[in-house]
Amino acid sequence: MLERIKFLEDESRKLEPSSGERKEYIDKVFNYTQNFLEQLSSSKAYQISEDKGIGIYDSPISDYPISIDEIIHLIKKHIDKPGINPASGGHLGYIPGGGIFPAALGDYLADVTNKYAGMFYASPGAVRVENMLIKWMCEMVGFPSETSGGNLTSGGSIANLIAIVTARDSAKLKSKDFEKLVIYITKQAHHSAVKALKIAGLEEAVIRHTSMDMHLRRKVDKLEEQIISDKKKDLLPFLIYATAGTTDIGAVDPLEDIGEIAKKYNIWYHIDAAYGGFFLLIDAGKKILKGIEKADSLIIDPHKGLFLPSGSGAILVRDQKKLFDSLHYHASYLQDADNCIDEYSPSDLSPELSKHFRGLRMWLPLKLFGIKPFKAALEEKILLTRYFYEQIQKIKGIEVGPYPELSIMIFRYIPEKINADEFNERLVNEIQKDGRIFMTSTRINNNFYIRLAVLNFRVHLNIIKLALSIIKEKIVLLES
Ligand SMILES: *Cc1c(COP(=O)(O)O)cnc(C)c1O
Repeated sequence: MLERIKFLEDESRKLEPSSGERKEYIDKVFNYTQNFLEQLSSSKAYQISEDKGIGIYDSPISDYPISIDEIIHLIKKHIDKPGINPASGGHLGYIPGGGIFPAALGDYLADVTNKYAGMFYASPGAVRVENMLIKWMCEMVGFPSETSGGNLTSGGSIANLIAIVTARDSAKLKSKDFEKLVIYITKQAHHSAVKALKIAGLEEAVIRHTSMDMHLRRKVDKLEEQIISDKKKDLLPFLIYATAGTTDIGAVDPLEDIGEIAKKYNIWYHIDAAYGGFFLLIDAGKKILKGIEKADSLIIDPHKGLFLPSGSGAILVRDQKKLFDSLHYHASYLQDADNCIDEYSPSDLSPELSKHFRGLRMWLPLKLFGIKPFKAALEEKILLTRYFYEQIQKIKGIEVGPYPELSIMIFRYIPEKINADEFNERLVNEIQKDGRIFMTSTRINNNFYIRLAVLNFRVHLNIIKLALSIIKEKIVLLES
């Protein structure tokens, strides 16, 4: 047996590279990322490819190692090249943050030390970092400091799920009542809301799509009428889902007025600020998001408005106790943690137990840069969107959607001869084929629109001007 152990030890020790090997790996990875970043401004924001990364399968997972050089080559060719480049400033499509570099250093440190941020007892400092970030965001939203709290999640969808489960549990319902519950939402709400309701077992609940105004914001008077009529029908108004920055056009529901109604009828008020939330850091955003502090729960995505790489969301709640009641569990093998309760532990406020110390990738950049450049970037993005909104209308035939409240807007070209939907579909395809910038499309009131989302931290005036000239160029091409 000892012989076998020794043999296994020799093999398993390969999991611990020597200091020289570590340095070699780091240097090579670092060089690759340096080149990647230095070439970003001339790289495509979208790369249509024939093989769609299929070459990654040519190197199967096996007993045999390959070199770090070969690995980097595979990444470069089959992963980083095809498809959307979310790091590119030309990414004006979905709602990307871009991924600020020091966040990667936070991840690196968190991965090397592997600190466990789930329980205060296991890593009090790591938990305090996460709780400090939660407190900072709660304060930004205007939640009461004594009661509020939350959890850092992998993204907005999971945060939404946690919020809905918390709302469900705090209503102390019997499952036979689920079919009587009413959820007030709009057609512009993110699809993760409906997904969360389904996972939370509330599929049978009545979903009311309250009507919207011309700017695709919820009409408050209609909401109240609906609630009154539902109550008469013996239904149970349960949750109002408002959006602070919709995915399609960045529209903000009238948060304050909805909050009044939620309070008047004692209905859980949930705000989806996944995209819009961090605009609270600047004055323009504070004005637009007025009333956000009335929420019972709220989701906000640092991987959007704080420009972190993907994998960072948050759920914030007015009353942390409700979140705790909904999600904490006791297990006897965790009893050592019981006597150490100076702070809430993230694992008691989340479905997760073992988890990535994701607080560090957020804390490190905030400390290294201070908040000021984040504020500047957010204001810049709003102004760039307004600039685009003004300039694009100078192209003859362009029709724009509502004035952008935040940093997303839609537009389309009305051609003289052919069908507008068909033309704009071709236009967005041409833009994507070109690839210097990346834009997507959506349907509003059954019309095909092209969508501009400005939230990547690398989008600056030069890219907005480039986008305008590419759009002009492609319209001329398609009209000729
Ligand atoms: C992005 C987004 C979500 C979902 O968040 P993920 O982080 O992608 O899971 C929900 N709502 C809105 C308004 C969003 O923009």
